[in-house]
Amino acid sequence: MHLPMLKSPDSYRPKACRCGCERLQGHGLRERHPLELVVDGQPIPVVNIRVFLCAGCGATWRVLPAFLARCLWRTWDVVEREALDKPRPRSAPAVPRRTVQRWRARLAQSARLPVQVLVVAGGLVRDLAERVGLEPTRKELLAASGGSLAALAVLLHRLAPGVRLM
Ligand SMILES: [Zn+2]
Repeated sequence: MHLPMLKSPDSYRPKACRCGCERLQGHGLRERHPLELVVDGQPIPVVNIRVFLCAGCGATWRVLPAFLARCLWRTWDVVEREALDKPRPRSAPAVPRRTVQRWRARLAQSARLPVQVLVVAGGLVRDLAERVGLEPTRKELLAASGGSLAALAVLLHRLAPGVRLM
């Protein structure tokens, strides 16, 4: 799905910048090099992503496709599978043990900051924050969200850029 969307810049163009400007101009492509990305049995070493430039404030926006994990070297499906100890398909390469330990340790950490972000955001996400209480782990917050790691991480990033789930 990413490749056809990449051909049409509008499909990835953000609606507006944080400054309020709605004129985001295409600013070319950048490469991401995710580790062990395999699609239909073929390794994909490079993924192009769209970059946009705000005409109002000059900010650049790098828009990641949903399968790429922000700030991590692997795709969300790999991170979720390994961090939550789900079965690995026979064809999938192993992830280094230290990496998996780091991800699991992250999920065991307090979710105090993500919960605060959800509370401030209000609406349905505030209901989620109220369900888990003040001191859940990130794993407990994920379980209460009923969604995927990717969905919760993207939500947090949209609400408060820089707040990471993983
Ligand atoms: Zn702007």
